[in-house]
Amino acid sequence: MAKRPLYITDSREQLPPEELAMLRKERSTKIILLVDDDEDMLEIGRKIITASGYQFLSARNGRECLKTMLEKRPHLVLLDLMMPIMSGHEVLKELANNIQYRPVRETPIIMLTAKMENQVNRQELFELGLSAFLVKPFGSKELINVIDNVFILDELKKRNKELERKIRQTEYKYQDLIENATDLIFILNEKGRFLFINRRLMALTGYIRDRWLGKDFRSLVLPEDQEMAWQNFQKTMTGRSRIFEMRVVTKENKVRYLSTNLNPIFEEGRVSGAVAIARDVTQQKKLEQQIRELKNFNESIIQSIGSGLMTLDLNLKITSFNSSAEEILGYKEDQVVGKPLEEILVKEDFEKLLPILNGNEQSLMNREIDLTTKNNRKVHIGFTVTPRIDNRNRRVGTIIAFRDISQIKQMQAEVIRMDRLASLGVLASGIAHEIRNPLAGIKTVAQTLEEEIEEGDPKREYLARIIRQVNRMDELLRAFFSYARPRPPVRKFYRLHEIVHEVTALLKQRMEKNNITFHENYEPDLPLIFVDFHQIQQVLINLFINAIDAMPEGGELRLEAKQTYETIQRVDRRGRRFPVPTRSMLYADVRISDTGMGISKENLQKIFDPFFTTKSQGSGLGLSIVYRIIEEHRGDIQVESVEGQGTTFRLLLPTEE
Ligand code: ADP
Repeated sequence: MAKRPLYITDSREQLPPEELAMLRKERSTKIILLVDDDEDMLEIGRKIITASGYQFLSARNGRECLKTMLEKRPHLVLLDLMMPIMSGHEVLKELANNIQYRPVRETPIIMLTAKMENQVNRQELFELGLSAFLVKPFGSKELINVIDNVFILDELKKRNKELERKIRQTEYKYQDLIENATDLIFILNEKGRFLFINRRLMALTGYIRDRWLGKDFRSLVLPEDQEMAWQNFQKTMTGRSRIFEMRVVTKENKVRYLSTNLNPIFEEGRVSGAVAIARDVTQQKKLEQQIRELKNFNESIIQSIGSGLMTLDLNLKITSFNSSAEEILGYKEDQVVGKPLEEILVKEDFEKLLPILNGNEQSLMNREIDLTTKNNRKVHIGFTVTPRIDNRNRRVGTIIAFRDISQIKQMQAEVIRMDRLASLGVLASGIAHEIRNPLAGIKTVAQTLEEEIEEGDPKREYLARIIRQVNRMDELLRAFFSYARPRPPVRKFYRLHEIVHEVTALLKQRMEKNNITFHENYEPDLPLIFVDFHQIQQVLINLFINAIDAMPEGGELRLEAKQTYETIQRVDRRGRRFPVPTRSMLYADVRISDTGMGISKENLQKIFDPFFTTKSQGSGLGLSIVYRIIEEHRGDIQVESVEGQGTTFRLLLPTEE
């Protein structure tokens, strides 16, 4: 505020007439109070003041002055310093300090004094609110000039005050805005130290402001992000704004994600620091993370599910295609996504599907259809069509879940066939039983007859033939029974070569007769096998006899055994594998090979079928019994053969209970 005394000597009386008239008009609205104990002074003052156009009031001492001020509210007071009852100085003090005079406190006051300047403590008087000094004696022009100028000064003062108030208000507003902003705001100096942090950021960190002021901002940041945050700060110091994400650590040791916008503060052409406006995006981050996880989860379910899954939009364009769908239909996901279904399927297939896809039913369960895959393979598909609904319950597309049920179809056909075979078997075994009795009768009669005919009689030979043929038929029937009515295996632990030796003892003569050498080889630590002795014996007999039959010109029969860990998939009669894997187990791996005629590719498919035989005297039951026994032991049998070179049967025999 201007506290310098004003000695203004310019006279405004010399203004052009119009302006002078305006000035006088203005003056006529103002009341001047002259306070002096000197009557002459009052009289002169009154004359000068009224002549200039101002209104005039007078008082004779300080007390009267204050009273008049309150009552008449003069616009300006000319106050004598030295007065009885109450001096000018005391008036100023009262005005400044007494609450009673508050309404008139702002009235501009000009002190009139006859004293020399240095005898009065001017500084003190100005501090009490004095506007100007006028030293007596003064001229009339001088007085009016001072009064005019004090008014101008007063006006300026008022405006100044108003301006200051406004500035303060805006400052408050901004401060308030920054303090209580929902954003986190902080200011850094050129060294990256906190100059300011707003209330929001304080609340987030859990510390009071003082903890941060003057500290490097990195002390707030998670160690892993400090380097990155610092680089961004340094970029900002070159005058560029940065947006980045950093993690900060709160008092409770919680990590929050701040999306931060760092802006340089320019001062006199250089960057003096940075102001950051940040937002806590932790919640958003968590949500994003959750959404990502959910998406992954969904994706992995869709991808890993055994069914083919395909989604279509309302225009029947493919929007997704999982890996089972790829497997079944032979297309890769990126070959079909975005394409209309019509382009992917062959015309007839699409036309068969279309009415189902356009159907308005809620869900179409368990339909079946034959489709042609990319590689022109026919697959039998079981499928379900479900509308895809968005969260506002509007239809946005179609979900098709499907499976390749070709194999199941084939199995069904197989089961039906087996069923027929089984009932045929039951019938046949009934007949076989009926045949055995009369056969036994024939045999007994033939034997009795043989005994009665003398030795050397050529008729005996006929009877011997009858008995041999009856024996053969009986043998056949026994074999048939063990196929038709197998008994469950009674299993114990045995050494493999124990069983093999029993078998080779039985077949020794037959092998020698056919010029066949037998070789066996067992791995030293071969585990015991857990099997039914008699059944495995029968398996070996059947395999050995087949091998001997296959080498009419002689050859080598070889048995090799070692141990192996395997996961067996069940094999059906025709060498097809059904996907029923069991756990990996320890087996004895037994290979029986011959150097015989071998089996043709075509026959290889059929050798395990009951009644399949290529031998004139064969029953075709040997291998089907072998197969059945191995299956009941939960073992495995495989065959490899090269025509003209030989055949190898591979058995996996269980070693565990
Ligand atoms: P069978 O011996 O009474 O014919 P099998 O079921 O034991 O009945 O055998 C079926 C058919 O499999 C045989 O007729 C033969 O054609 C073929 N076969 C089996 N083992 C061999 C082998 N080691 N070498 C060549 N062919 C074989």
